[in-house]
Amino acid sequence: MHEMSYVVRIVSLALRKAQENGAAEVKSLTVLVGEMTDIVPEYLHKYYPDAVKGTIMEGSVLKTETDPVKIRCGGCGRIYHPEKANSYACPVCGSTEGEICGGRGLSIRELEIEA
Ligand SMILES: [Zn+2]
Repeated sequence: MHEMSYVVRIVSLALRKAQENGAAEVKSLTVLVGEMTDIVPEYLHKYYPDAVKGTIMEGSVLKTETDPVKIRCGGCGRIYHPEKANSYACPVCGSTEGEICGGRGLSIRELEIEA
């Protein structure tokens, strides 16, 4: 059920962005769903119409894309996608001291507006 609060948050962010851009109407919203989250895109789609009701986003289309997990290696600085087969280690230097720098939470990728 926590998907509803994610939807509300991302919609309010999108609304602010749309207003900053002088939008009269929003056509579509593309959201990146982090691979490391437990957010189920189906639920985002399910709650979206309610979350945008009565706003300039009413009737817009929600699109979701997966945002893959990225790790910045603590050894060599390379950004890579961790693989389980590789014990999530850096493919270049083998370090496991990396820091996660992508694939968490929800973010707006694109907002299609009509001015
Ligand atoms: Zn490395």
